[in-house]
Amino acid sequence: MTKKNKSVHKKDTNNYELHPRTLAIHAGYVSGWSEGAAKPPIFMTSTWVPKNARKLELIFKNMHAKNPKENFGLAYSRVSHAGLEILEKRLRSWNKEKACAVFDSGMAAIERTLRCFLKPGDFILYSEPLYGGTINLIKHGLAAIGIHSAGFPADSSLKEMEYFLKKSGHSKKLAIIIIEPPANPTIQLVDIESCAYLALKYSEKKKVLLAVDNTFLGPLWQNPDLHGADLTIYSATKYLGGHSDLIAGAVLGDKNVINPLRDARQDPADAFTAWLLLRSLETLELRMEGQMNNAIYVANYLRNHPKVRKTRYLGLLKENDPQYITYQKQCTGVGAMISFDIKGGKQEAFAFLDALKIFQGAVSLGGTESLASHPASTTHSNLSAEERKRMEIGQGMIRLSLGLEYHKDLIFDLEQAFKKI
Ligand SMILES: *Cc1c(COP(=O)(O)O)cnc(C)c1O
Repeated sequence: MTKKNKSVHKKDTNNYELHPRTLAIHAGYVSGWSEGAAKPPIFMTSTWVPKNARKLELIFKNMHAKNPKENFGLAYSRVSHAGLEILEKRLRSWNKEKACAVFDSGMAAIERTLRCFLKPGDFILYSEPLYGGTINLIKHGLAAIGIHSAGFPADSSLKEMEYFLKKSGHSKKLAIIIIEPPANPTIQLVDIESCAYLALKYSEKKKVLLAVDNTFLGPLWQNPDLHGADLTIYSATKYLGGHSDLIAGAVLGDKNVINPLRDARQDPADAFTAWLLLRSLETLELRMEGQMNNAIYVANYLRNHPKVRKTRYLGLLKENDPQYITYQKQCTGVGAMISFDIKGGKQEAFAFLDALKIFQGAVSLGGTESLASHPASTTHSNLSAEERKRMEIGQGMIRLSLGLEYHKDLIFDLEQAFKKI
């Protein structure tokens, strides 16, 4: 199928549509470009040498054009480099989004996005809880330059979201809605379609953008662009990287939003990180499916455990739960993140965490190794006690990120740790 000097595309020969799993391995690169190397090399170079001065002039023109052409040529690695171009193409394999920009962290992706599309006086509406770094940025970094915000509970209905927007008194200034379905660590879905509807309703002079942090379920099990999102954001540190050995971020969307964002970018992922991510994407589907299977197994064990009060997992939603309706609308898989409340409080939670042998006691998620953390004292420690109570992030809550270990070994580990408390 691949010609020697032409890489594969989504719609290849005769409109036959290639599966994302195939594209993630082949798109954007052919061996003929690099001395026959089967895999893309690590392009360790800061500057690029076009064939003549005229070409370099054209590359700069293209760089600053409103609608830059893709793969037009490279000039300087802070702007873009070969590994990044291949990666950005492959990240689009799962979605209909037309463009992608990769950053050197998830927070860089979020911060650049918010700063690129907001100006002093604008207003942000967000779902609660949000990733700690994002909420800090909104409440401190952006508030300091006159960009204000209001939150709404993750599981709100459209009516409730609008209530919180109106109550803020700034609905006319609304510029961005940013959400995180499912919320961390409460595993509550935010209805993407309702947010898209709200964004449209308040787009009077300027389009209100809907940005979705899709780190937990994407790109396999939730495609926000299919439900009206303008920007899909990832911490690529998590499932996309998948081996807990890199930090990176990505934003996907139409060219009209990604082009200005890429133009504002000063912090793309470097050559080695881009290469690691290319390696990771080849196994993304296999890894995420394996991790989800482990999570289903572990959630079923936890939900009946006498030392567990409550288990939160998309795979345990009951059919009469409004969250289940949202799940059916926008998700195609239940993911590999679980939270549960241990009977007791911080003391029991810490004793349990310290007794685990296979699960590593650490923050972050999405890697091949299983992780366990205590949100109240770590990722959500800068919320006030009152906020944590409102969001039901208790002292007995433990969050699990399931890895790829043998499922029975994970149950063995949890069981021996429960026995120690
Ligand atoms: C980790 C994470 C981030 C931040 O990403 P970094 O790569 O750590 O900068 C943002 N959102 C979510 C949901 C995350 O889990």
